[in-house]
Amino acid sequence: MATVVLVTGGTGLVGKALEHIIETEPVGSRFGKLPNETWIFASSAEGDLRDPEQTNKLYEKYKPTHVIHLAALVGGLFKNMKYKLTFLRDNILINDNVLHASYTHKTTKLISCLSTCVFPDKVEYPLDENKIHSGPPHESNFGYAHAKRMVDVQNHAYKEEFGCNFTSAIPTNIFGPYDNYDLEDAHVIPALVHKCYLAKKNGTPFIVSGTGKPLRQFIFSHDLAKLFVWMLREYDDVEPIILSVGEDEEVSIKEVTDAIVKAVGFDGHYSFDTSKADGQFRKPASNKKLLDRIGGFQFTPFEQALDISVKWFIENYDTARTGNNKKA
Ligand code: NAP
Ligand code: GDP
Repeated sequence: MATVVLVTGGTGLVGKALEHIIETEPVGSRFGKLPNETWIFASSAEGDLRDPEQTNKLYEKYKPTHVIHLAALVGGLFKNMKYKLTFLRDNILINDNVLHASYTHKTTKLISCLSTCVFPDKVEYPLDENKIHSGPPHESNFGYAHAKRMVDVQNHAYKEEFGCNFTSAIPTNIFGPYDNYDLEDAHVIPALVHKCYLAKKNGTPFIVSGTGKPLRQFIFSHDLAKLFVWMLREYDDVEPIILSVGEDEEVSIKEVTDAIVKAVGFDGHYSFDTSKADGQFRKPASNKKLLDRIGGFQFTPFEQALDISVKWFIENYDTARTGNNKKA
């Protein structure tokens, strides 16, 4: 039977990484395309998923048998702090429309994308898949976190009432080519890569927000894309699964900054603006379930992945999402 895989959010950081993996891994290999598959990478221009009619039209057009649902209102700490209601509402609408259209159009399998932001702030570490609902999320991004948590609740309800094969992935912080490099709204790696690049090019000050002490786990978008393909083929369980490097691979924001300085080739100084928020101090997540199920996976070393991302950013500065072409 022909398989049509629809990737919502197909033009974003993770969507572009999936497209790269599907186009470059050998056909028929574990992470490659299968001969009977068609992959569709949809942008918001193809349909605003906050709107049920546009969502239905997208499903009518492509008749997907499988959906990898990445589309979301996404942003770093500072954007999340500014637009809590918009993050809550837009993501609730997008997710509800995609899940319901997947049910009404009899999609064989749906994988949605959560984030380690969904976990409670005060909880015993490491985070694992059983702790999502055991306390309120960090206040800095509670809008986004609650909207994303609800996907897990909905997945269980769709399974129990209608037998749907819906599940979800929980990635940690992601980075890679085609990231959003906006100076204010982006996540930490792309924002700092852009700031460091400008400091080197224009001699502007390179200022890192917060104390540099918080810890994060980062996954390269190309690695994450392979894990999504693996889930599509081999993971059939409503329970979510954390897609992450090991919990022993947490790095501080200062260490990340030093690695960026090296990758960009910046030989000036940088400083910390401690009046800016640190956000959650840490959120170490266990990848034990992933490693038990997948049976071994080679993650790209952090510095190698950072070099690839920085090189991509510099080569594509004029077309990258730098915020320079922001609509008013
Ligand atoms: P991204 O680069 O900002 O891309 C977002 C994608 O969603 C774009 O393709 C965008 O389309 C689409 N989109 C946004 N609003 C839409 C709407 N109303 N209707 C239809 N499409 C819409 O995001 P990303 O970093 O790839 O994130 C992918 C997934 O990973 C998200 O679910 C996110 O929550 C999750 N995640 C991200 C991170 C991270 O560090 N980036 C960490 C954990 C989890 P256009 O290109 O047309 O705007
Ligand atoms: P989070 O993991 O959801 O908190 O998201 P981010 O990717 O935005 O990372 C936030 C952490 O990086 C916080 O500790 C910030 O203080 C720190 N950080 C330092 N400089 C920046 C910056 O320019 N942008 C962002 N988003 N975070 C920064």
